[in-house]
Amino acid sequence: MFLIDGHLDLSMNALEWNRDLTRPLAEVRQREAGKTDKKDRGRGVCTFPEMRRGQIGLCIATQIARYVAKDNPLPGWHAPEIAWAQTQGQLAWYRAMEDRGQMVQIRDKAGLAQHVALWQNPLPLGEGGDRRSPGEGLPIGYVLSLEGADSIVELSYLERSYASGLRALGPAHYGPGRYSPGTGAAGGLTAAGRELVKEMRRLGIVLDVTHLTDEAFWEALDLYDGPVWASHNNVRALVPHQRQFNDDQLKELIRRDAIIGAAFDAWMMVPGWVRGTTTPEQTGVKIETIVDHIDHICQLAGSSRHCAIGSDLDGGYGTEQTPLDLDSIADLQRLTEILARRGYSAADITGIMHANWIRKLSEALPA
Ligand SMILES: [Zn+2]
Repeated sequence: MFLIDGHLDLSMNALEWNRDLTRPLAEVRQREAGKTDKKDRGRGVCTFPEMRRGQIGLCIATQIARYVAKDNPLPGWHAPEIAWAQTQGQLAWYRAMEDRGQMVQIRDKAGLAQHVALWQNPLPLGEGGDRRSPGEGLPIGYVLSLEGADSIVELSYLERSYASGLRALGPAHYGPGRYSPGTGAAGGLTAAGRELVKEMRRLGIVLDVTHLTDEAFWEALDLYDGPVWASHNNVRALVPHQRQFNDDQLKELIRRDAIIGAAFDAWMMVPGWVRGTTTPEQTGVKIETIVDHIDHICQLAGSSRHCAIGSDLDGGYGTEQTPLDLDSIADLQRLTEILARRGYSAADITGIMHANWIRKLSEALPA
């Protein structure tokens, strides 16, 4: 079944992990053998051939570059202008993928409709009329998003980004931020963050509330009355950590008709995970574990209307931190069968796999 993934840091993986995502997964892993500079070397789960095998024909793909002040121990760039340049390098990679026919940028409603039709009704191959296998030879669509706004040097850069196709933005990532503190930090939006959110509304950029602190979450939603989503977020009632949303936050997102993308980063799926220490084997985390999070949101909402996928399976971790039964992003396709076994109707499953994202994107993208 056609699948939309609401969160993949594809260009970060290409530039910082030096992965050629056009190559087969086994080859990308093989090329990293013996490397130890990243914890997931040789364990990545996402390449374009695997996305096509899993019928992931559309994703929300990020630019991401953090600014770090002298006292910030997180990895990042030492000036906002350097962070900006990093995101522009990431954009250059997306453009090169477009030139090769590997990707296509979705910027508006018409582009979305055309791309969804292409994946749902692939053209016959050749005279024999034999149809393509799903995804074969098709470009992967992407809606451009920015994860963490540090690289927006000042507000005029946001307008330039919109012109490059930026359609969604999450003001925060991990730690302190120039516009908003994020995961692991505390406090509300900065003065610049409040201006940023207003400028996003003016331009028509979707607010991605993922990674916002609790304070910034409520503040941003007060300031912003446009379309909202949480691209990759799980449930705090199941995994108690500020990175997940509590029920009040989830209810507000439901009230705002947001989409909440279920994330497959294992530490966000099961409680008590210590990153770098806990293993999937110790916890028994499986793909099905995510259905507990989806169920929780469905119960709060009274329907599956707000649930979708935002796997983050290109988020700088690999099989050391994914469900036991997931070796490739293509394994997300098994959700159809798992959801059916858990009692979800055909309409619910279609919604979670793609239709809920399509509905929201159709509303949020410009004409
Ligand atoms: Zn993230």
